[in-house]
Amino acid sequence: MNIIIFGPPGAGKGTQAARIQEKYKLKQLSTGDMLRAEVASESALGKTLKATMDAGELVSDETIIELIGNCISEPECERGFILDGFPRTVPQAKALDEMLGHMARKIEHVLVLEVDNDILIDRIKIRASESGETRSDDNEEILRNRLEVYEAQTAPVLPYYKDRGVLRKINGMEPVNEVTAQIEAILANF
Ligand code: AMP
Repeated sequence: MNIIIFGPPGAGKGTQAARIQEKYKLKQLSTGDMLRAEVASESALGKTLKATMDAGELVSDETIIELIGNCISEPECERGFILDGFPRTVPQAKALDEMLGHMARKIEHVLVLEVDNDILIDRIKIRASESGETRSDDNEEILRNRLEVYEAQTAPVLPYYKDRGVLRKINGMEPVNEVTAQIEAILANF
């Protein structure tokens, strides 16, 4: 089973993807985590990536597509995977389809975590005040930019999957365990 977990920044994709990984033994592939690892390595590429990520902008499609292409062909993805933070643009979604087509695989579910913007902004304020260690792209101003980027570049990916009948909408404003229960109910029904 191959899944995409989709939604705006701060919707809880990473938390839910980790739970799905555990329960269904699918490999979680988080492009954000991969990019942060590259930044932490202090490579030349990492330094360029950091500037883009700190501004809340998207890294180039070319870089991301190469990153994901290397991962999905790994043996650990054989049972299936859950993509967290990818695809974030229509060209990324098309490139993913092409890669999966070569492997005779497809995306079965796109789980869309729906959360209103004001709730996302409240959440980030709480996270910033509670944790000493925040991500460098984790503040209100950057989040507002990330939400704009989401609307302009990432939300247009949804109609692409809607046409294939794989979109599953989830109320991401419920408590975390309720969100997990909604996801499990959907996956049990297909
Ligand atoms: P995330 O942890 O998924 O919120 O990603 C953090 C940051 O990494 C984003 O704000 C982007 O700068 C970058 N990023 C992650 N995934 C992608 C992607 N699929 N395409 C472009 N940029 C990405």
